Amino acid sequence: MRSFSYTRVLEVETAVQEKSAGVEAKFIAGGTNLTDLMKAKVEQPQQLIDIRRLPLKEITENPEGGLRLGALVTNAQTAYHPEIENRYPLLSQAILAGASAQLRNMATNGGNPLQRTRCYYFYDTATACNKREPGSGCSAINGFNRIHAILGTSESCIAVHPSDMAVALTALEAKVNVRSQNGERVIPFVDFHRLPGDTPHIDTNLQADEIITSIDLPTQGFAEHATYLKIRDRESYAFALVSVAAALEMEGNIIKNARIALGGVAHKPWRKPEAEALLNGKEANAANFQPVAEALIAGAQGYGHNDFKIELAKRAIVRALLQAANKEEQS
Ligand code: SF4
Repeated sequence: MRSFSYTRVLEVETAVQEKSAGVEAKFIAGGTNLTDLMKAKVEQPQQLIDIRRLPLKEITENPEGGLRLGALVTNAQTAYHPEIENRYPLLSQAILAGASAQLRNMATNGGNPLQRTRCYYFYDTATACNKREPGSGCSAINGFNRIHAILGTSESCIAVHPSDMAVALTALEAKVNVRSQNGERVIPFVDFHRLPGDTPHIDTNLQADEIITSIDLPTQGFAEHATYLKIRDRESYAFALVSVAAALEMEGNIIKNARIALGGVAHKPWRKPEAEALLNGKEANAANFQPVAEALIAGAQGYGHNDFKIELAKRAIVRALLQAANKEEQS
């Protein structure tokens, strides 16, 4: 591992000043992904800025409605918070579907969406990878690509984003509050992550000098009819092959509003509002869910080993919507 300097900060202002100081620096909080990447020499920052003591550790009511999740609240604290369990069960389910209890105790709300892909080649510095080393090529396209993307891919990269939490935040239309020396700005969660295009080394629209301070959840939490369905190779401590965050607003058996976000299929959580709109005013049943699944997956392309994901995703969407309509939790 390359040697690096370590700085502990106590104020957000100091954190963004340090980050803008010209040294190749990384913020560290839970460190559950960053330390692995540093050991593998994928990330080699000159400076680590320890932000764990910043005052960003609360979940509070947002004056505009909904809840505000401090960036340094852990994933476990968030998932088990009574207001999250009651008002945003979709988020609680998604967080608890991810990683292990130990990791959720360390990982933070600000860090979770910033975790990097688990593409095997990204971690193997002996192989070509455009995300790790721009211009070197993509070993996955013609290599072993069972876990890779079927939507939104490019000739440069077919990696998927690994976060479960991010899939639920996309469906809930959360917003990310960020700060830099230039002030504050808000990034809609759906615009936070990027498709790979020809710049797969840039995962998000967060700028290098910005820090995430909190994530806002809107008032509508779809608490009555929501489910997070995660399909994976084993029951725990595995990343999604396909996951579905499904949230419905219903009157009787009629759908008034639907949100669907997919994980494990693209470089960012995948959402298509025009497919969701097909459900407006429709009865909640499998026959009506099937065309939505087809619309969401339209244009999907497999790369050999991951061809199975196309059919799997369609079936998972229908099942997740049925579970949400019937008030069944994650299965
Ligand atoms: Fe690298 Fe992306 Fe190709 Fe994986 S899929 S090897 S992360 S460029």
